[in-house]
Amino acid sequence: MVTPNLKPGHELVFIGLGSNLDRPVEQLKSARLAISVLPLVEEVSFSSLYLNPPMGPQDQPDYVNAVMAVTTGLPPLTLLASLQTIESEHGRVRTCRWGARTLDLDILLYGPLEMSVPELTIPHPGLTERAFVLCPLYEIAPELIIPGKGKIADILAQCPTDQLKKLT
Ligand code: ATP
Ligand code: CA
Ligand code: CA
Repeated sequence: MVTPNLKPGHELVFIGLGSNLDRPVEQLKSARLAISVLPLVEEVSFSSLYLNPPMGPQDQPDYVNAVMAVTTGLPPLTLLASLQTIESEHGRVRTCRWGARTLDLDILLYGPLEMSVPELTIPHPGLTERAFVLCPLYEIAPELIIPGKGKIADILAQCPTDQLKKLT
């Protein structure tokens, strides 16, 4: 990924995408398009797709996951609201924690920002333990430093990746 020149007030943001219901590959393609046409959002890069067993309840299909890099002038909570609208438009129904879903969009990183309010924690708290996030993130941004955590290469080296399959 070529590091983009940022307009004033814009940040480089990484978004995690996941789906395990109703044609996951199509869900991710459609979500990518919906994100890229949001006002004040520009796509920078999109990873390969990865197939991964579910977290939490095991009686659900495998997930397809990817990571998208964008630049945005939307503040973090505004971006979260926009992503949640896209989830709803893709038929997301909130059931149990980590239950099956048509679309999950998580804000992984927002430039150098570290924040925690009840509705939004950045960096995303699961980021450093999840192979299905670290692998696609490393694929598009191998030099990344995760605010408060360190180099992505070092974090990925500590994370088991044997369950993850990269889709061609
Ligand atoms: P996890 O967050 O462990 O991946 P999940 O994605 O299944 O689990 P959701 O049900 O999608 O969790 O989201 C629950 C709440 O998490 C959201 O309503 C949102 O307010 C909050 N949240 C906190 N930090 C973030 C973040 N970085 N990105 C997206 N949502 C977040
Ligand atoms: Ca999630
Ligand atoms: Ca989520």
